[in-house]
Amino acid sequence: MMTTINYQQHLLPLSRQQLVDKLAEALTEDRFHHVLRVEQTAIKLAKQYGVDLEKASIAGLCHDYAKQRPDEDFLREIKEDGLDPDLLNWNNAIWHGIVGAEMVKHELDVWDEDILNAIRHHTTGAPVMSPLEQIIYMADYIEPGRSFAEVVKARELTAKSLTLGVAYQTEQTLAYLVERDLPVYPATILTYNAWVPQNKGEL
Ligand code: GDP
Ligand code: FE
Ligand code: FE
Repeated sequence: MMTTINYQQHLLPLSRQQLVDKLAEALTEDRFHHVLRVEQTAIKLAKQYGVDLEKASIAGLCHDYAKQRPDEDFLREIKEDGLDPDLLNWNNAIWHGIVGAEMVKHELDVWDEDILNAIRHHTTGAPVMSPLEQIIYMADYIEPGRSFAEVVKARELTAKSLTLGVAYQTEQTLAYLVERDLPVYPATILTYNAWVPQNKGEL
């Protein structure tokens, strides 16, 4: 069942429908539908884990807002905002969350730091994540459109414990990157160290 949240907290100057219309414009059709599924998954997890539903909806909808932007937009944003210069060595996979959050702030007028951190950390995770950040990190990974082999276990663990879901995704993502000889963003390693070793026995 699809849940539509009525925005009442003025976390941005748009209704949900106006936000959805902007996202439909900013994203490819596939990416737009992914974002709607992440929103619904995030709302479900927010109900289960006692997190603000309006924040879950906004963060779920906005998490990939910048995904389709050209590299030059990210490079400009990194310089103008004085973000970590090491970001210049990375690519869209890393930028669309960390740098994309600044675009959400400036272009969609979202200033809530919990929502912005959920967007910033949705790809790499972080050593410390709020319940909302954990929910967006997991919702992106387990939304119903995902079909990789590990998603079944990821869904089971997340239904049982948000912490175990985060630990499992973090373990799988690092293994995936190493397996494919892809460079590992430093934050991804910090996330691994903070979440995986102490939960390994329960995964
Ligand atoms: P999506 O935006 O919904 O497709 O999902 P994500 O934002 O979670 O991931 C975007 C891409 O970043 C995926 O292909 C991940 O495998 C990749 N990714 C995640 N962490 C890292 C990392 O540390 N290094 C690199 N190179 N890629 C990563
Ligand atoms: Fe993403
Ligand atoms: Fe996503």
